[in-house]
Amino acid sequence: MLDLIKKAEQTHALERDELAALLEQTDEDVSKALYQAADRVRAAYVGSDVQLRGLIEFTNFCRNNCLYCGIRRDNPNPARYRLTPDQIVDFATKAASYGFKTVVLQGGEDPWYSADRVADIVRRIKKLDIAVTLSIGERTYEEYKAYRDAGADRYLIRIETTDKALYERLDPQMSWDNRRRCLEDLRRLGYEVGSGSMVGLPDQTTESIADDILFFKELNVDMAGIGPFIPHPDTPLKDCEGRKFDLALKTMALTRLLLPDINIPATTAMETLNPNGRVIALRSGANVVMPNMTEGEYRRLYELYPGKICVSDTPLHCRTCIGAKILAIGRTIGADKGFRGEFLKRKA
Ligand code: SAH
Repeated sequence: MLDLIKKAEQTHALERDELAALLEQTDEDVSKALYQAADRVRAAYVGSDVQLRGLIEFTNFCRNNCLYCGIRRDNPNPARYRLTPDQIVDFATKAASYGFKTVVLQGGEDPWYSADRVADIVRRIKKLDIAVTLSIGERTYEEYKAYRDAGADRYLIRIETTDKALYERLDPQMSWDNRRRCLEDLRRLGYEVGSGSMVGLPDQTTESIADDILFFKELNVDMAGIGPFIPHPDTPLKDCEGRKFDLALKTMALTRLLLPDINIPATTAMETLNPNGRVIALRSGANVVMPNMTEGEYRRLYELYPGKICVSDTPLHCRTCIGAKILAIGRTIGADKGFRGEFLKRKA
């Protein structure tokens, strides 16, 4: 196992069965060696800067019905909200004033936000001279083009799982091939492309997780967000196990070894399972944190999974809190927009 980790650290390549073996093993010393290797690769390829992206959760309306997700269409419980374009721009303006160089606009797939509306919001936020990431699900090539023409820099759409049958079971009426098509369209349009997956889904094997990592490599994604699946009590998957923190951490660390220079967030779902989850992730390969910049009641209503952290905190509190944690572990806070490869370019 230690030889495999060494091989991955040096060559940034592993076979499917090698990845699966490392995911499966539970020897603490081996896992520790894996996290340390990922941390070294992180330091060499993306440096000590942690990139902060301000997350704005702007709508919890969704036309989809993903079995794992708390804001799925058929969940009658969360009061539904959508922020007005003025509110979104206002939250982004505040994020910029706290020093954020990127905001991420995330939401359910909510048709109220037509391509024109989204493009208009992007145009207004771009005037703040910050990068804009969109995370609003599956759209057409023309829609992605309209956002891009308006100035959107990045797009985040997790493949969730590369096991097509599992995906289509968990996301009724959705097609895995269409989700993949989205990633290809986004790349063609010149976005920085973020994808990612959930770890610990029902019937998900370690081989299937190995395939997820190889998929990120094959697509050469610029960012990969990996988080543990956390069952939500108001969804059909409420009785599933999930909550596999260590497995998610191993998946994230292996992704760093295989894609050394990409952006990898320490995900909020990790912090939900472990009060120190984001710091642990930052020391095991991650270099990005997405503090919540949504204000007020909306935070609580954007409940993808239960136990979401910081639901009663303010954006400024979140910025200060995570900033202090980053400095306390000897890391620095990124001062630029945090595009892939910036560190290596500066170093050269
Ligand atoms: N509508 C957008 C945003 C989805 S929400 C899109 O389709 O891309 C953002 C991410 O939350 C999802 O991609 C999924 O990976 C994650 N998520 C949803 N439900 C979850 C759960 N129960 N546990 C952990 N992560 C979950």
